[in-house]
Amino acid sequence: MRKQIIVGNWKMFKTNSQAVEFIKSVDSKVNKDSNIIAGIAVPSIMLSDVQKVAKNIVISAQNCYFEKEGAFTGEISIPMLQDLNVKYVVIGHSERRDIFGETDEMINNKVKALLLSNITPILCCGESLETYESGKTIEWVKSQITKDFAGVSPEDAKKVVIAYEPIWAIGTGKVATPEIAQNVCKEIRNIIKDIYNEQVANEILIQYGGSVKPENIKDILDQADIDGALVGGASLIEDSYLGLVNYKG
Ligand code: PEP
Repeated sequence: MRKQIIVGNWKMFKTNSQAVEFIKSVDSKVNKDSNIIAGIAVPSIMLSDVQKVAKNIVISAQNCYFEKEGAFTGEISIPMLQDLNVKYVVIGHSERRDIFGETDEMINNKVKALLLSNITPILCCGESLETYESGKTIEWVKSQITKDFAGVSPEDAKKVVIAYEPIWAIGTGKVATPEIAQNVCKEIRNIIKDIYNEQVANEILIQYGGSVKPENIKDILDQADIDGALVGGASLIEDSYLGLVNYKG
């Protein structure tokens, strides 16, 4: 049985002190005995302080650069994340792709560098409203996944967490129906099977992201090919975060 992984994505919200207070308040209330990995991806400036107070919540970064060090002003390296014992990094979020111009080539370099360092990439993919409406979702995510996994071995590929996030459902309140989300996540598993093999496809974790809330998480995670959620807005409020990670399956 695959584990489930529910990760909050705080984007550029909260200050360091608010983040520490939040984690201190919710950490002991996270159900430790479930099959669910509960995480939060915080802005990098907060990683060090929240790591010190998180016991049950797995702290994730929201981005990194693939070079070990150098003249890359403003970037965060993987050794910096390793030093803080960070185990997950969100890679290729649509906001990084669309606002900051990240390409699949850069994302692929990040995925490979993280895997070499034993950090789990939470690799985002997903289509725009235009692509969705023209019926090209699968073609689009197939192209992203094929490029983002280029040169990744089967052993490493199964360690990646894929987050399918239709851009039209992110922060819009417009959640994909469980059927739409399941259908695309199933196709993503098939794409992984075609690139690798059945075993990798069966083991890899696939999240859905896009306006997930405590009220709809069960219907989404009940789907056979959805193993978790990447959650923006609803992860910023304590009760709501706990409603997500402690949901009853
Ligand atoms: C996200 O930030 O990845 C996301 C899915 O946001 P929201 O849950 O607010 O739609």
